[in-house]
Amino acid sequence: MASLVEIRGLVYEYPGFRALHDLSATIEKGTITALVGPNGAGKTTFLRCLAALEAPYSGTIKLDGLNIHSNPRLSHTQMGYLSDFFGLYDDLTVGQCLSHRAYAQELVANRAAEAIEWAAGAVNLSDRLRQKAGELSRGLRQRLAIGQAIIHKPKLLLLDEPASGLDPEARDDLATLLTRLRDGGMTIVVSSHILAELEAYSSHMLIIDKGHIVDHAIVGDAALGSESAALTVQLMEPHKDFEKILLHVAEITRMTDTAAQISLKGGPTAQRDLLKKLIAAGAPVIFFGPDKVNLQDAYIERMREGRAS
Ligand code: ATP
Repeated sequence: MASLVEIRGLVYEYPGFRALHDLSATIEKGTITALVGPNGAGKTTFLRCLAALEAPYSGTIKLDGLNIHSNPRLSHTQMGYLSDFFGLYDDLTVGQCLSHRAYAQELVANRAAEAIEWAAGAVNLSDRLRQKAGELSRGLRQRLAIGQAIIHKPKLLLLDEPASGLDPEARDDLATLLTRLRDGGMTIVVSSHILAELEAYSSHMLIIDKGHIVDHAIVGDAALGSESAALTVQLMEPHKDFEKILLHVAEITRMTDTAAQISLKGGPTAQRDLLKKLIAAGAPVIFFGPDKVNLQDAYIERMREGRAS
């Protein structure tokens, strides 16, 4: 997969306090990265550096090859950012808020009208263009703020805790919206403390603790298409050759009579071949898919490992 963001040796300091220590990471195009970590870990600082709103002490961030801190204005035409605490112009209508942003992004005349129509549609606010922002519920305000952030169809969308304070339905709407934007080609980095939710749509998890990257891993269904995948295989009942077939091609992480967690190299082809082999041998496979370790478990495990070492 092609990379969109290259972060190399990023160091950020507040006066007298180093908040980010030598961070390096690559964010691939078309992915949704969950940025997680405890309070004070550096997530907001990291997102603000990625948004070219803070100048790092050292290190570089490139967006599609563009050094964002040498070209902040140009980079802002290619990314959208929503901070954890945002304000809206409450006396403006939804349409005016979007129009204001469109013009700020130098989209004028027909291009502004098209952008407003597209962004309002993307965040499901087309029927509220004449309503004042101050009259919107929290979930709708959030959607409008995201609509403003994506008005110029950025390559990269950065969202700092967009789900906080939303009810379950509004969070579900947010998940659908982010998945749709990703499907439309946007690359998204989203910070949140609500891991169960991030799991629904994230392809990667970037864990930050005390200003260091603790882990950067592929998660969920995205693992299936990757070169090295963590998989769970489950049988309806034990089969004599289950372990032998698995051992032939994969590393076994955990094993019972009827279930195994394995690590398999070779991408989708190796996965297809293994499933074929199991079925050909008569193994009663009832589940073959990405490891069922959830984001929350993976996060807690990594944090504990990090603290123990
Ligand atoms: P949270 O989950 O609580 O939002 P976070 O992971 O987003 O936290 P940051 O807000 O990036 O963390 O803060 C990282 C560290 O930098 C913290 O120790 C914080 O106290 C410190 N910090 C943040 N802003 C400033 C500032 N303006 N001046 C000095 N230190 C700051």
